[in-house]
Amino acid sequence: MDSGTGRNVRTEIVSPAGNAEKLRFAVRYGADAVYFGGDEFNLRVRSDNFTLEEIGEAVEFCRKSGVKTVFLFNAFLHEKDIAPAASYLEKIKRLNFDAIMVSDPAAKALIEAAGIETEFHLSTQMSVMNHLAVKFWRSAGFKRIVLARETTLDEIRAIRDATDAEIEIFVHGALCVAYSGRCLLSRYLTGRSANQGDCSQPCRWNYSLVEKKRPGNYLDVIEHGSGTEILSSMDLSLIEKIGDYIDAGVSAFKIEGRMKSVYYAANTTRIYRHAVDCAGTGAFAEHLPFWNRELDLISHRPYTNDLFNEFDNIPFESVPYIKKALFMGYRADDGVQSREIDVKVFNPFSVGDIVDAIYPIKETIMDHQCIITDIRSADIGITTVARPGSVYTVTFDRPVYSNALFRKIIK
Ligand code: SF4
Repeated sequence: MDSGTGRNVRTEIVSPAGNAEKLRFAVRYGADAVYFGGDEFNLRVRSDNFTLEEIGEAVEFCRKSGVKTVFLFNAFLHEKDIAPAASYLEKIKRLNFDAIMVSDPAAKALIEAAGIETEFHLSTQMSVMNHLAVKFWRSAGFKRIVLARETTLDEIRAIRDATDAEIEIFVHGALCVAYSGRCLLSRYLTGRSANQGDCSQPCRWNYSLVEKKRPGNYLDVIEHGSGTEILSSMDLSLIEKIGDYIDAGVSAFKIEGRMKSVYYAANTTRIYRHAVDCAGTGAFAEHLPFWNRELDLISHRPYTNDLFNEFDNIPFESVPYIKKALFMGYRADDGVQSREIDVKVFNPFSVGDIVDAIYPIKETIMDHQCIITDIRSADIGITTVARPGSVYTVTFDRPVYSNALFRKIIK
């Protein structure tokens, strides 16, 4: 897995693959690498994750597609975890990942003891933000360091100049209000530990203050530039600034969100892939409005790109959840362009509905609207409504291409 460490190498897009379906679409929509975990010892225990059989299939599919695999083995290990972790590694040792990501040095030691030859990536959970720490981990055998989200652009430039490590940063997705997940809030309130991959995201719940003698009188707790900022972070989006980060010598851009939908994995991947491809050319400014619109059509909280550099200027803003489009489903057959296709359904739709079809971006943006004219299923025959969880044969008013994802704009 060699991305190079200079300022003239193409920056990779590293996409979230919470399950096999999301992995497939991240690959088809332009990922250079995908990251995923098994059903143990990764920091998203509630993501669907992969069984051993699915991991083997995923590695095979990625290899055939020319996409790299980063396996997550990044939970922090208690003493009691050491023996189970060692036996889990025995089961996956022959799968030949391009890289394995760890946080705990013990995990690296166990991987080496199992005889697994791979590249090591250091997780953002280790909060690396300076060149001395990068050099330390580099000399400990790590090829790529995922920097803490709190690292500034100037610090990235300094790290690039002083080290030969590959540098990865997060470009998109949810932020913690603690240093990259080093947080006890979830464990305290729900018993689910963020450091074991089981965060229940209580920093995003709606809180109120109640004065003891005035029960029922709820006062909202909101984020404020000069007051408490412990609750409800905004989401990260560096789309407008990625040229600066490419120039700074970042090797890879990581998209957060293994728990999010197939639509999220695919659409964020294609937008950042396209933006990296356009960086440094006139096409960047031309397409920026399209990218911003697409990122706005993914469910999110208000975006910020200020976390890295402008801690003092985060504006006063409440952080509602923004949802402007519904993911309806994806084309489930491998056929050529056709008006009649199979669709796996995620949200119900009906005959007469107008939906957007979106596609991977190659030479051109092929997205278009289409109208559903007919819905059939093998079980019930002709119907007017397609329901989530099943595959239907759907006819549109115009041809649909392969790899289509469908969404409906919420009015
Ligand atoms: S509770 Fe919030 S800040 Fe804490 S680890 Fe979870 S997402 Fe991050």
